Amino acid sequence: AVMEPTDLNQLLEEYSKLAYQSVRGEDKEFNVTLQYNLDPNVGKVQIAQGEFGRVIVNLVNNACYAVNEKRKQGLDKYDPVIGISTSRLNDEIDIRVWDNGIGIPEEVVSKLFQPFFTTKPQGKGTGLGLSLTYSSIVDTHKGKIGVTSELGVRTEFRIQIPA
Ligand code: ADP
Ligand code: MG
Repeated sequence: AVMEPTDLNQLLEEYSKLAYQSVRGEDKEFNVTLQYNLDPNVGKVQIAQGEFGRVIVNLVNNACYAVNEKRKQGLDKYDPVIGISTSRLNDEIDIRVWDNGIGIPEEVVSKLFQPFFTTKPQGKGTGLGLSLTYSSIVDTHKGKIGVTSELGVRTEFRIQIPA
C-alpha cells in the first residue's frame, strides 16, 4: 500500500458520507444524523488512502446497520446518530467512529475482528469487514484498534495511528 500525506479529516468526511449515502440510496426511510467532531490540528497524516477509505466505509456501514436494527425495534423516541471524531495528542492521532445503535453483547466483542465472524443474516454480511480493518490499521498503518460497547445504547470503535 502506498502511504501518502493526507488531510485525514477531509478523507473521513468524504468516505463516511459516501457510505451513508449508499445505504440511504437503498432505503429512503433511513435518516441518520452524522455528527462530526474533527480536530483541525490533525492536519496531514501518512495514509494508504484507498485502504483507509474502505476502513471508514466499513465502520460506517456497520454503524448504519446497528442504528437501523435499533430503529426497527419501534421505540417512539429514537434519533439515530453516527459520530466521527478526531483528535491529535503529540505523536498520535485518535479517530473514533461511534453510533447509538443496538450495541454488541459482551460475549461477542472478542470475536469481532476474526475473519468471517458475522451476526448478520445470510447474504447481508461476509464478516470480513472488521478483520480487514484490523489488518489495515495494525499492519499497514502501524496503529491500534479497539471497541467499547454498551448493549442497546452505544458502540465506539477507536483507532490510534502515528501522526
Ligand atoms: P459484517 O458487517 O459483514 O457482519 P464485520 O466484520 O464488519 O462483518 O462485523 C462483524 C460483526 O460485528 C457484525 O456482524 C456485527 O455483529 C458486529 N458489529 C460491527 N460493528 C457493529 C456496530 N457498530 N454495532 C453493533 N454491532 C457491530
Ligand atoms: Mg461490516
